[in-house]
Amino acid sequence: MPRDIFVKTPTDWSVSLEDGPHYTASALDALAAHWVTGQDLVIYSICAHCRGTVEISVKLGRIRFAHPAGVRVYVPESREPSRFFCSSEEFALWRRLHQQSSGVALTLEEALELGQHGTDPPGDEAARESGHGKA
Ligand SMILES: [Zn+2]
Repeated sequence: MPRDIFVKTPTDWSVSLEDGPHYTASALDALAAHWVTGQDLVIYSICAHCRGTVEISVKLGRIRFAHPAGVRVYVPESREPSRFFCSSEEFALWRRLHQQSSGVALTLEEALELGQHGTDPPGDEAARESGHGKA
């Protein structure tokens, strides 16, 4: 069974799948939806700094396009959700106002790869999928 990363109520992270829009609780989960469902998809979200539209197309394991082109994904060390930003410049502006928040800002490619390995603690399922399960 795929990890259940979708939530029932609308959030800032909308993912268009074959059977309609779905929502996740963070930017990383929206990217991980590509791996969980195996479907090409488009993510519709907003920038956490300027609230501008962020649109990302993921196809065959790659970022096909992103608008704006310089989107960054901020992954906090705390339990806050990961968020999209228009650019590293806007992230830097936001960071100046939120200095208590520590974490890393990834490129979309880095975040997509991170999403492939899972954003939640690995369980039995992850162990089996890695092919290193005990006999
Ligand atoms: Zn922005």
